[in-house]
Amino acid sequence: MIANKVKTYLEGSGSEIPKERMDVALGLMEHSLRRNLGDNSAERGGRKVRMPRPSGTWACGREMVFKSLALNGEPYGWRSRLTFTHGDITEAMGVMLYRQALDSTGESKILLSPADNGEQLELDVEFDPSVWGVEGEKFRLKGHMDMTLDVHGHGESVVDWKALSVYSFNDVQAAAGDSDHPWWAKEAGGYVAQVRWYMMMLRLSGRGDGKWGAIVAVNKNTGHLAEAVIPYDHDAEVALIRKAVYTARMIAEASERRAIVLQDSGDGDEATDIVLAEWVREFVPRAKFTKNMVVQRGTVMRPDGTKGKCFELDTSRAADPEAFRCSYCDFTELCYDGFSVVALAKPVYRTNGI
Ligand code: SF4
Repeated sequence: MIANKVKTYLEGSGSEIPKERMDVALGLMEHSLRRNLGDNSAERGGRKVRMPRPSGTWACGREMVFKSLALNGEPYGWRSRLTFTHGDITEAMGVMLYRQALDSTGESKILLSPADNGEQLELDVEFDPSVWGVEGEKFRLKGHMDMTLDVHGHGESVVDWKALSVYSFNDVQAAAGDSDHPWWAKEAGGYVAQVRWYMMMLRLSGRGDGKWGAIVAVNKNTGHLAEAVIPYDHDAEVALIRKAVYTARMIAEASERRAIVLQDSGDGDEATDIVLAEWVREFVPRAKFTKNMVVQRGTVMRPDGTKGKCFELDTSRAADPEAFRCSYCDFTELCYDGFSVVALAKPVYRTNGI
C-alpha cells in the first residue's frame, strides 16, 4: 500500500520535488536537529510529572514512571537523542517520498496529515476506561501522528514511519504476513502499542473508525522497505487501557511524592532524584522480561576501567526476546542500582566488582 508505491516511484525516474515540499522536509529535519541535538531544556517542561505519550514504553511501567518524573535531570538520555534524530529524519523523508509517489499515481488526496505546510495532526484525547469494561479513573493522552490517510473513505487511519536495524526490520517484514509471528507479542507494548493508541485516539475523536493502522519500516542498513498493517483488536486495547490506568495512578502518586520530597530539596536536585528513584523501585515492579544479573567469570572490563569479576545484566535475546529493552532504556542505572554502562560494541551494564 505505502511501501510498494514508494518503491515503484523510486524505481522510475522520480519527479521534481516542489520547493514548498522540500522546505517542509528540511524544516522537519532542522527542527529535529535543534530539539534533539541542541539545547533541549525547554523539553523538560519544568520537570512536570506527566502522563506518558502513546510513543512511550508501554512494555515497562517502571520506565514510564521514571520518565514521567524526568529523573536523571534530562527528559531523554544521550543515546535517545541520537536515535530520535534518526527516526525524525526517516519520517520526514518517508512522508515526502510518499507524497511524491501519490502525485505520480494521482491519489494525493488520500494523504490527510501532515498538511501541505507540514503541520501534523496532534490529538489530546480523554479515555474513559469503562468504555472498555475496565475500572479506573479517566486519563488523557496526547500525541502527534507521522501520517494519516483516508484510503477507503472511512476517515483517517494512522501510519508510523520507523528506521530499523536489520534484525528489527526482518521481524517487521516476517510479521507482516504472519499474525502468529512473535513480533506481535514482542511489540504489543512497543511499536504496535503506539499505533493502537493512535487508532483509539482517531476513533474517540471521531476522525476515523480506528479499524487499522500501519507501520512502514525502513531498513537503516540496506534501504529495504516493509509495511505491517495493525488490525483492530479489542483484547489488545483492553490490555493497554489497564496498563494506562495503573500507570496514571502511579504517576499521580509520584506527583504527590515529589511535592513532599521537594519540601526538603530543590527540583532537579540529585537528592530529590535519588529519593524518588528509590520510591519507584519500591512500588513499580520491573517488567516481566527483565532478567537477573549474571556473574561474569574471568577478566572483563568493569565500569571504572579495572578488570575482573563483576555482575552483568543479561539483556540478550537468549535471556528473553524483550530483555534488549533494558539496554536501550535511559534509566537502567537507576533501575538496577549499582550498575553502570560499559562502552563496548553495544551497551553493557556491569558493576565495579562482586
Ligand atoms: S532498565 Fe529495564 S526494567 Fe528498568 S525501567 Fe528500563 S526497561 Fe524497565
